[in-house]
Amino acid sequence: MIDANNPDRKSFIDVPENSDFPIQNLPFGIFSVNGDFQRAGVALGNKVIDLDTLFKLGYIKSIDENVFEYPMLNAFIALGKDSTRAVRNELANLFDEKNYELQNNKGHLNQVLFDQNNVEMHLPVEIGDYTDFYSSREHATNVGTMFRDPKNALMPNWLHLPVGYHGRSSSIIPSGIPVKRPKGQSLPPNAETPVFGPSQRMDFELEMAFISHQGKPIGDSISTTEAENYIFGMVVFNDWSARDLQKWEYVPLGPFLAKNFASSVSPWIVTLDALEPYRVEGPTQVPQPMPYLQFDGKKNFDINLEVYIKPENSQASKVCQSNFKFLYWNMAQQLAHHTVNGCNINAGDMFASGTISGPTKDSYGSMLELSWGGKNPIKLADGSERKFINDHDTVIMKANCHNGKTRIGFGEVSSKVLPAS
Ligand code: MN
Repeated sequence: MIDANNPDRKSFIDVPENSDFPIQNLPFGIFSVNGDFQRAGVALGNKVIDLDTLFKLGYIKSIDENVFEYPMLNAFIALGKDSTRAVRNELANLFDEKNYELQNNKGHLNQVLFDQNNVEMHLPVEIGDYTDFYSSREHATNVGTMFRDPKNALMPNWLHLPVGYHGRSSSIIPSGIPVKRPKGQSLPPNAETPVFGPSQRMDFELEMAFISHQGKPIGDSISTTEAENYIFGMVVFNDWSARDLQKWEYVPLGPFLAKNFASSVSPWIVTLDALEPYRVEGPTQVPQPMPYLQFDGKKNFDINLEVYIKPENSQASKVCQSNFKFLYWNMAQQLAHHTVNGCNINAGDMFASGTISGPTKDSYGSMLELSWGGKNPIKLADGSERKFINDHDTVIMKANCHNGKTRIGFGEVSSKVLPAS
């Protein structure tokens, strides 16, 4: 067992019941206080641990160089799995209630601990490359049923490879930053010529994304057996989509402006190590994938996912309850497929799962599916209805795992939609 995952461990820092951030989690992020410099931190209960200061005070001994003073986590993640694991284990021991080294030094504690309410969170990594997969069978089936043919909802390649496309990294933004409704071209129903204007079908996509360690040189491949050594951790990922723009533009090269105006991510990267206790089997894969996509062991994770819509000046309504475990293609298969041709990956690259829909109607991970193409509006708690997302709505996504012994969470990604300019 990874030392930091010990379910019996308790911290001397108060952790409220049902907190996303018990000592068994210790996710990494980038924060600042009152507009000062951005540096690395770890969440514990309602606190943020300042890793830059902790390193300068001499408490982090497992690595030699201060990689925590930068505005991004890339340098830390580039050290590789052994180092990031060692630092997380060290933090678990340092903040253990049985350890008095830091606990008894109130002066140092005051320097390294901040209230989460008093910090600003930033994008955790500089994202060199962003890939979006399409790995939920239920989602691909629903979309194929609506847009093409219910009898042949899945494209012929879908059960043979994890379909994906290269997205845009510059417009990936952290939770809390509002998103402006995009403008663009669309083809109205029964029209022959396109129109230009604000998207009428603004949608969210419930996804999770993994962040990679430094990969192998270009020309080399990463196998499914090796893949998890190259995965640092995960965030919740809202892949905003303009469905009307998408429908008109996507043939033949795939999504473009309908997707690249914004994607929003949760600020804390939960390590793959912390998710270890929540491994589960994935769906059975028939036909059997090719040898390079076969794998041993449990490669899916039991992560509860929720989406809420909060209209302005009103309460939030839960509109979706899904789970990461529904994904047909797992992260090891995605990474093995991504690199099988020799494509290289870098520390801090981001790989989104694709919309995560489950088998039931309340587990669909987009408004497109929840309202079935706009045919069945869904009712919110304030009595209003939604086919897609309205201006001034806030979309909130949450993720958490629990197994009876421990509960760890991802915090949330929350973003408000503003009118087109
Ligand atoms: Mn997507």
